[in-house]
Amino acid sequence: MSKTLRWGLIGASTIAREWMSDAIRSTGGEVVSVMSSDQDRAAAYAKANGIPHATTSLDALLDEADAVYISTTNELHHAQVLQSARAGKHILCEKPLALTVDEAREMVDACRAAGVVLGTNHHLRNAGTHRAMREAIAAGRIGRPLFARVFHAVYLPAHLQGWRLTNPSAGAGVVLDITVHDADTLRFVLADDPVEVTALTQSAGLSQGSVEDGAMGTIRFKSGLLAQFHDAFTTAHAKTGFEVHGTEGSLIGTDCMTQRPVGDVLLRTATGEELLPIDRTNLYERSVARFTAAAHGDGEPAATGEDGIWSLAIAAAALQSARTSQVAAINPEFSTSLKVSQ
Ligand code: NDP
Repeated sequence: MSKTLRWGLIGASTIAREWMSDAIRSTGGEVVSVMSSDQDRAAAYAKANGIPHATTSLDALLDEADAVYISTTNELHHAQVLQSARAGKHILCEKPLALTVDEAREMVDACRAAGVVLGTNHHLRNAGTHRAMREAIAAGRIGRPLFARVFHAVYLPAHLQGWRLTNPSAGAGVVLDITVHDADTLRFVLADDPVEVTALTQSAGLSQGSVEDGAMGTIRFKSGLLAQFHDAFTTAHAKTGFEVHGTEGSLIGTDCMTQRPVGDVLLRTATGEELLPIDRTNLYERSVARFTAAAHGDGEPAATGEDGIWSLAIAAAALQSARTSQVAAINPEFSTSLKVSQ
């Protein structure tokens, strides 16, 4: 494999166009091909985004690439990861990894068996804000963390108001879209794993049918910490945030559940308040850089395939809790089928 990774884009998606193609290029990679289910669309996308080849054949794309970035709709990730692993390609896959925990585990196992790197594109753990909070907690600056609160209620932009709101078989809904990110960020910042979750969902009129466009819930972690989350597609004026409250202090992250390297983190203790220094590196560039290093044998992706199983297991348990009105256990070894309810 050459030092410059040759990337194939599986999915002519918005996220690849808005963020990931630039992140690949600015970290030294080359985007060599894009695959879409429609040849005309693939060709137009390739032309608009400076990509040399366009195809509807996954085999053709895999022939050209060292690594693939998968950003199709969620139900397609599973089969596309398995095929890419069989072809010996390193894989950066979007969240949620799949629609069931069993499928996600099969993907991780297949990549391990094929000796290829699998990363989950949980961009938020690459944010300077979240890294600063993780370091402050690890350094004991807030004592023992007792509570966390995640504010991730946003308004889904008009150009994304498609399958996320209407198509359960594509993995629609705010929980698979946003709660998975909260789940991963909580695990990362707290360096802790969850054990159970309780959640309620809302369908306030933006989504259709059984698809939820809002959710609130509480997750209990192994340490005993309780984390609250609030996710929505429907609120245009709520700011995002991420807080952790401990025995000796509080960390207040504002405007940090976002794609851009913005937001602040305030540390408040008995001695006063201070803003933590924040690294403003582009989140997606850091994700690609970590993945690229891993593909060259240096370390792991920022979020691994196992991390993707965890975040899916948490989201699946949240949906199960909302469906059954009961607390749901979180165990990434257990089979949790989202398809059952949809
Ligand atoms: P898009 O809706 O933009 O793209 C998904 C698929 O929809 C594409 O692969 C494409 O199919 C089809 N599509 C897109 N636009 C059109 C169009 N104008 N006409 C017809 N078909 C179209 O999805 P997103 O980019 O928002 O999300 C893709 C994946 O990335 C999801 O898994 C999502 O969860 C994840 N994501 C992750 C983010 C992160 O920060 N980590 C942020 C946003 C999304 P085809 O390829 O066949 O042409």
